[in-house]
Amino acid sequence: MSYSSFIPPQRTLMGPGPSDVSARVLSALARPTIGHLDPQFITMMDEVKGLLQYAFQTQNEYTIALSAPGSAGMEACFVNLVSAEDKVVVCRNGVFGARMIENVQRIGAELVVVDGEWGRAVDPQQLEDALKQHSDATVVAFVHAETSTGAKSDAKTLCQIAQQYDCLTIVDAVTSLGGIELKVDEWGIDAIYSGSQKCLSCVPGISPISFSDKAIDKLKARNVPVQSWFLDQSLVMGYWSGDGKRAYHHTAPVNSLYALHESLVMLHQEGLENSWRRHQRMHDLLATGLEALDLHFIVPAAERLPQLNAVTIPEQFDDAKIRSYLLNEFNLEIGAGLGQFAGKAWRIGLMGYAARKENVALCLTALQEAMQNT
Ligand code: PLP
Repeated sequence: MSYSSFIPPQRTLMGPGPSDVSARVLSALARPTIGHLDPQFITMMDEVKGLLQYAFQTQNEYTIALSAPGSAGMEACFVNLVSAEDKVVVCRNGVFGARMIENVQRIGAELVVVDGEWGRAVDPQQLEDALKQHSDATVVAFVHAETSTGAKSDAKTLCQIAQQYDCLTIVDAVTSLGGIELKVDEWGIDAIYSGSQKCLSCVPGISPISFSDKAIDKLKARNVPVQSWFLDQSLVMGYWSGDGKRAYHHTAPVNSLYALHESLVMLHQEGLENSWRRHQRMHDLLATGLEALDLHFIVPAAERLPQLNAVTIPEQFDDAKIRSYLLNEFNLEIGAGLGQFAGKAWRIGLMGYAARKENVALCLTALQEAMQNT
């Protein structure tokens, strides 16, 4: 058996993530690897923290990039901030809310599920009703941008309700960060996690997280250690904080952090609000074209994510055949349906660097041809 280098095809990534990575970010990835405790690397880590504070719109001191994907960000929030004595309200309106539930169950905390319709935002009234009924709840968790359906929930209102009932909030912002309005401090979010591979358009495998002072106090007050050594943020803290001096915890993905730094610099240069507006503009363009092709959105207009466009697959089309046609003829990836929508929906991503006019035009042309020819 002989092996040779793996040369991937040049695809356009318009699925639910990873999204297109710009040449600028890819070239940052290829810079020389240096030691993860090198003083220059630590200076760069500090910049990553500052840039993430900007992206999350937070002054939270504990704002870092976890060396693992979004799922680890989710798990880090739960294992650090929830213990068996807690009662946790989880809002489920798609696949990722369901994963939050599994996290709570594995911790052995008491669970209250607020079940919402797939393809709709979380209903604030349902959350309020659940909290009235369970006034001893301590944590509320929900997904801001449900990638499995394309629904956007009103994180500001949900957090306000949680605060009225004295609950800590855990928010999934894997698909929302950089793509739609998100204001961690103003909205009073206590723990939030995201992913590098969505609207930040960086390579996959890193999860930005941020904990409020209240969340840190809860972590410090734990009377049982966090069951995951790797995700225990009281240990990771020593690696990401301190004046120039850092304690070894694990070896950071040095080059991936260069890439994250570059993608965050790009976001900063564009301006966060300009990025939110660009995602909305590209969504409006795509939505007009999709409706013209007789493809209809699952989510009502007011609750739609601009960066994740889920449309119902008309009955006469074969899901897999169309997606293969797009991949083989146009090098274009769109996403299949997930969970309840498996086989029933296409999920078209307009995330980060992929949210550009040429991608919208390519996607519409390619879909039209695929629907004619398959
Ligand atoms: N949460 C949401 C909303 C997601 O869309 C994803 C990934 O698609 C995750 C969590 C998990 O992230 P990762 O696949 O990076 O582990």
